[in-house]
Amino acid sequence: MPLTPEQDAEIADLRATPRTTLRAVSEGAEQHLYVPKPVLDHGFVRMIDYMGDDAAICQAARVSYGRGTKSVQNDEGLIRYLMRHWHSTPFEMCELKLHVKLPVFVARQWIRHRTANVNEYSARYSILDREFYIPRTEDLAAQSSQNNQGRGDVLGPEESARVLDWLREDAHRAYDHYEQMISDEGQQGVARELARMNLPANIYTQWYWKVDLHNLFHFLRLRADSHAQYEIRVYADAICEMVKDWVPAAYRAFEEYRLGGVTLSASGVECLRRMLAGEEVTQETSGMSAREWREFNSQWIT
Ligand SMILES: Cc1cc2nc3c(=O)[nH]c(=O)nc-3n(C[C@H](O)[C@H](O)[C@H](O)COP(=O)(O)OP(=O)(O)OC[C@H]3O[C@@H](n4cnc5c(N)ncnc54)[C@H](O)[C@@H]3O)c2cc1C
Repeated sequence: MPLTPEQDAEIADLRATPRTTLRAVSEGAEQHLYVPKPVLDHGFVRMIDYMGDDAAICQAARVSYGRGTKSVQNDEGLIRYLMRHWHSTPFEMCELKLHVKLPVFVARQWIRHRTANVNEYSARYSILDREFYIPRTEDLAAQSSQNNQGRGDVLGPEESARVLDWLREDAHRAYDHYEQMISDEGQQGVARELARMNLPANIYTQWYWKVDLHNLFHFLRLRADSHAQYEIRVYADAICEMVKDWVPAAYRAFEEYRLGGVTLSASGVECLRRMLAGEEVTQETSGMSAREWREFNSQWIT
């Protein structure tokens, strides 16, 4: 993820010029501001701006004139209550703006989260860098036989070496042709907006992404989950580290009721009641399909 010396200097410059403000300040978020957190081989995520803190959630919930803080303990209790009861609008009062550098195939999954504001690097205007995501051998796995949407065992060394060679060669060949197409030396040169269609989905793009805390938690709940694809999960994990410092009480409530919690269907609740009463319940007597039964059990059997 190396940044150019000019980019490093710009970041250092921003961090060297603090200003006084009347706005809510989160000390935890201040540590992260502007600093890129490396993700994958060339990607990063960095916090560009934030609005609000834990107290801002309570301030909105209480519609207060002041900071809305009663006591730290009281605030944490309120935040946990709001999270537990899906009272989500106070969380929308906090916002986070990120700068993300990510492979295009990850961006396609990410952009499905519509409740954010996005501005992407323009490959019509600018030339994309020769940077491609090439997985580490330990992340290069076969198709899962259990889950059509996932991966299974790590590839053996020979197959993995062959695949990695193809990934590198194909990406560089496509990029060579991209460069040749847009070149205006001895030819007209194809427009950048057209030539980019030749680039592979593992090339890196960048965007600014702004989202409120409620929708960010929804994103993190889905993408920091073990079922999410590894390549987006590592971004979600990096964002979790920032959110934990920015709004620690809200993050603790999120971990408690969303990340660490489980959702049960009506049949699931009924099965659990029967089990607690000492009955031995099987898939056949549960009223659930085989898949539902597997998912029901996988929530607490590790
Ligand atoms: C493990 C996993 C596998 C997936 N597989 C696939 C797949 O195979 N194919 C595929 O196409 N997608 C797939 N997705 C994407 C998924 O279907 C969602 O598009 C994505 O997770 C964004 O979720 P969202 O719509 O809730 O988020 P957001 O767009 O951020 O929306 C948040 C919430 O706002 C509301 N909302 C937003 N916009 C609208 C709207 N226009 N109308 C009504 N309500 C709205 C909804 O309540 C929504 O839940 C997958 C996602 C995951 C996590």
